Amino acid sequence: MKTANKTVTATQLVKDALKKAEFFKDYNVFISLNEEAALKRAAEIDERIARGENVGRLAGVPFAAKDNYLVKGTKTTAASHILEPFEAPLNATIIDQLEAEGAIMIGKVNLDSFAHGSSTENSYFGPTLNAVDKTRVAGGSSGGSAVAVALDVVEFTTGSDTGGSIRQPASFNGVYGLKPTYGATSRYGVVSMASSLDTDGFFTKSAEDLDLLMSICAHRDEKDLTTLPDFYEESEAKKVQKIGVIKEFDSDVVDPEIRACLKEKCEELKKSGHEIVEIDMPTLKYALAVYYIIQPAEVTSNLSRYDGIRYGFRSENSADLDSLYGNTRNEGFMKENKRRIMIGNFVLSSGFYDAYFLKAAKARTLIIEEYNKAFEKCDVLLTPVSPNPAFKLGEKVGDPMAMYIEDLMSVSINLAGIPGIAIPTGKTKNGLPIGLQILGPRRSDKTIINFAKELK
Ligand code: GLN
Repeated sequence: MKTANKTVTATQLVKDALKKAEFFKDYNVFISLNEEAALKRAAEIDERIARGENVGRLAGVPFAAKDNYLVKGTKTTAASHILEPFEAPLNATIIDQLEAEGAIMIGKVNLDSFAHGSSTENSYFGPTLNAVDKTRVAGGSSGGSAVAVALDVVEFTTGSDTGGSIRQPASFNGVYGLKPTYGATSRYGVVSMASSLDTDGFFTKSAEDLDLLMSICAHRDEKDLTTLPDFYEESEAKKVQKIGVIKEFDSDVVDPEIRACLKEKCEELKKSGHEIVEIDMPTLKYALAVYYIIQPAEVTSNLSRYDGIRYGFRSENSADLDSLYGNTRNEGFMKENKRRIMIGNFVLSSGFYDAYFLKAAKARTLIIEEYNKAFEKCDVLLTPVSPNPAFKLGEKVGDPMAMYIEDLMSVSINLAGIPGIAIPTGKTKNGLPIGLQILGPRRSDKTIINFAKELK
């Protein structure tokens, strides 16, 4: 990562990043820029560098935050109308950690509203365009984060991954994306989607940069009691010898070019002395259904706080309190947000709770056990990230089921709480990036990052 020093100033780095943000404006990456504050911070950092102070491991490095990260004094919209006027009163823990090492937040980037989606087309502010082909989607929900790194506007971005939102856009744009072990990083100050699945991570141009960011951010946080005791810096990367491939993912649902890319990578790995083992994971076929029960159930609870009283937008001209709640939520949420609220309420309602939510919770346990068993047979798993490369804008946005199928190979990782890293691996015949994901057991973040370094 290019840090500031006495010759390359933080001010110069920030100015360059802002210039690039302006240059690539038509990609619709940024929801807001933090120009004034970023330049002020850069000047302060330059002064400290001039005085010979150690500013930190990210001295003057410009970065962008997904617009569901609270950054004090900036608008935090979650790409929604309901939070459009909301200004964050505090920093997310991850923002604090990055700033403590000298990083500079230059702007907030686009996402599917409340991170609901797989293409960034559900954003209230319009879709972000794919970095390689402007007629295609950026992926989602962290589409802005992926494209900002792919276009080299910033060195890295933050993202959140509830069911694939870091890994899928990373693979659609040819960059690295890490979803850490659940609880490795703090969720404090990041707008909640589904709390038992949400994991906050990063987009970068290399596995080395992910390593650096994890050593800075993977820490226990007293403000988020689901964070794990520190393990990342102490843990030793296991030498990866046996690589598992999931039999069920080698199916017709997956684009032939992606399957071929995985096979080619496996051949390469065999040549370099690795062992490839085929793993049967029959329970994974339930993962998508389980995810689309548990996730909306948690979404409906997390979104109940947006009532027009406490945060952001309020619909005027309502006759009474009930219609004020109703109108605010009706006007403030996007269609996809409402769909999830409805499904969530349905699966949690008395009479359906046992049939849907409870069953899904049990099936989730089976998925966790299946991953545990798989990791007895291999050190890591190597799988496709999504069934297809970046698709055309507008192709799936009117068809929620088609959009949900995008998440086929990414959601089980969140259900199991394990880490996954998307690495740029190949290209389709028409030049679209193909990513593969490396998965490991809980707390094996260092192992998969190191393996990603090896694979480059
Ligand atoms: N695409 C998935 C969904 O729509 C995952 C979203 C995410 O990880 N935030 O739920």
